[in-house]
Amino acid sequence: MATRADYDVVVVGGGPAGAAAAARCAQHGHSVLVLESERFPRFHIGESLLPLGDDVFQQLGVGARLRSAGFVTKRGAQLKTADGAHTVLFDFTQASFVDPPWAFQVHRAEFDQILLEHARSLGAEVEFARARDCRIDANGVEVEFTSGERVATVRARAIVDASGRTGFVARQQGVRRPDDELRKAAVYAHYRNVPADPGDRAGDTRIVSLPKLGWVWFIPLQDGVTSVGCVLDIADYESREKGDPAALFAAAIAQSSQASAWLAEAECVSGFRVESGFSYGASSYCGDRWFLAGDAGSFLDPVFSTGVLLALRSGVEAADAIDAAYVRGRSGKARVLRRFDRVLQARYQFVRKFVLGFYDEATRDIFFAPRPVFGITRAVTTVLAGGFDLTWLDRLRVRCFFLLGRLQRRFNLVPRVAASAPATPASKTMETPA
Ligand SMILES: Cc1cc2nc3c(=O)[nH]c(=O)nc-3n(C[C@H](O)[C@H](O)[C@H](O)COP(=O)(O)OP(=O)(O)OC[C@H]3O[C@@H](n4cnc5c(N)ncnc54)[C@H](O)[C@@H]3O)c2cc1C
Repeated sequence: MATRADYDVVVVGGGPAGAAAAARCAQHGHSVLVLESERFPRFHIGESLLPLGDDVFQQLGVGARLRSAGFVTKRGAQLKTADGAHTVLFDFTQASFVDPPWAFQVHRAEFDQILLEHARSLGAEVEFARARDCRIDANGVEVEFTSGERVATVRARAIVDASGRTGFVARQQGVRRPDDELRKAAVYAHYRNVPADPGDRAGDTRIVSLPKLGWVWFIPLQDGVTSVGCVLDIADYESREKGDPAALFAAAIAQSSQASAWLAEAECVSGFRVESGFSYGASSYCGDRWFLAGDAGSFLDPVFSTGVLLALRSGVEAADAIDAAYVRGRSGKARVLRRFDRVLQARYQFVRKFVLGFYDEATRDIFFAPRPVFGITRAVTTVLAGGFDLTWLDRLRVRCFFLLGRLQRRFNLVPRVAASAPATPASKTMETPA
C-alpha cells in the first residue's frame, strides 16, 4: 500500500460542498486534496440555484466564470395549483437585501465541473478516487482510497465530508438522523418542447401543487431542455408501481391538468430517475478533526431549491473552521466546533420549518395567498431567495406567516386551494405586491 504526502485538509466529494470547501482552503493558503469517486462531468440532480449563492461565488472568485457559462437566468419562482387556476409569483426583485435578484438554472454536470476546476486553479489537488476507509484521532486523519486497482492512504490534519448523501464520515460517526416527518420520493426526467412563460419570466422555476400535497417542478435549462420532476409522499409512492419510473411519473403528472397541458407536446430526452427517502439531519455536524458539509450533513426536501446553497455555504464554513481551529490555531478549538455545529443546526431547522409548512395544507394555502400586510410577503420571498439570516423584523414577519397558517386551519382566512383536485387550466394570476 502506497502512502501519500500529508495535506492540511482532505475533502471527500467534489460536488458543490466539496469544491467550495477546497477552494476556500486554498484561499486560506492550505494544502488540500479532493477525492471524488466519479469522473467529471457527471449528471447530478439539483439544477435550480438561489440568488444568495452569488455571495459565495464572489467570495470564491468564480462569479465571472459562471456568468459567462450561458446558464438560464431565474428571476423568481411560481407556485401553481394543480388545475392552473391560481398562480403566485415569488419575484426575487421583491426580496430584501438580495443582490443580484436572480440566480442560475444549471446543468449540474457543467456547473459542478466549473466549481471543481476553479478549486483546482486556486491550488487544490483533485484525485478521481473513492474514499473507502477513514481513521480519525486527536493527531489527525488517515483516509484510504481506491482508484482502479490502486489503493493508497492520505494523511491530513482535518477532513471535510462532502460526499453528499453517501455520508462517508457522517455514517461512520453515527450522526445521521432520518427526518420522519419528511419521507418523500422523487421521479424526474429531462424534456424538450415544454412551453415557457414569455419574456423575463421564461427562466422561472414553476412548481405545480398536486393533490395529497405532492408537487411537480419545471426547471428550464439551456438548449431548450426542461427538468421535470414529481415529489410524492413516500406512502403515496409505495402504493404505486415502483418498478416502472416512467409509469410512476405519468401517474403523478395525470393528477394535474396544468402539468399535463405543459407536457402534452413535450418529448422526454432522458431516462427517468428515482430518489427516495431523502430528508435527514445530523445529531452533530463536526467533531475533533471532522466536519460535515452539504448533503453529507443534512438534506431537506428540494421544494425551495435550497440544497446547493446550503452545500456551498457549509463548505466555506467548514474550511474557515478548520483554518481557525487546526491550521492557524487562532481560536479555541472547542469554541470553533461548537459554533460550526450551532450554525448548521439552526439553518437546517429554519429551512425545515418552511419545508414542513409547504406540506401542511393550511400553510400551503397561505403560500398561495400572499398578503401585502406588514411586509410578510417580502420576508417570505427573501427566504425563498436564500436569505436565511434575516433581520429581527423579517423574523417576526416570518412568524406571522406561520401564525396565519395555523389560523387558516380554523378560520378559512383564504381560499382552500392547496390540495385542489385537477380541473381545466385557467389563467388567474396573482403577483406578490411590491
Ligand atoms: C430530487 C431532487 C431534486 C433537487 N433539486 C434541487 C434544486 O433544484 N436546487 C438545489 O439547490 N438542490 C436541489 N437538490 C439538492 C442537491 O442535489 C444537493 O443538495 C446538492 O447536490 C448537495 O451538494 P453536495 O456537494 O453536498 O453533494 P453532491 O452534489 O451529491 O456531491 C457529492 C460528491 O461526492 C462524491 N462521493 C460520494 N461518496 C464518495 C466517496 N466515498 N469518495 C469520493 N467521492 C465520493 C459523489 O460522487 C459526488 O460527486 C435536489 C435533490 C434531489 C434529491
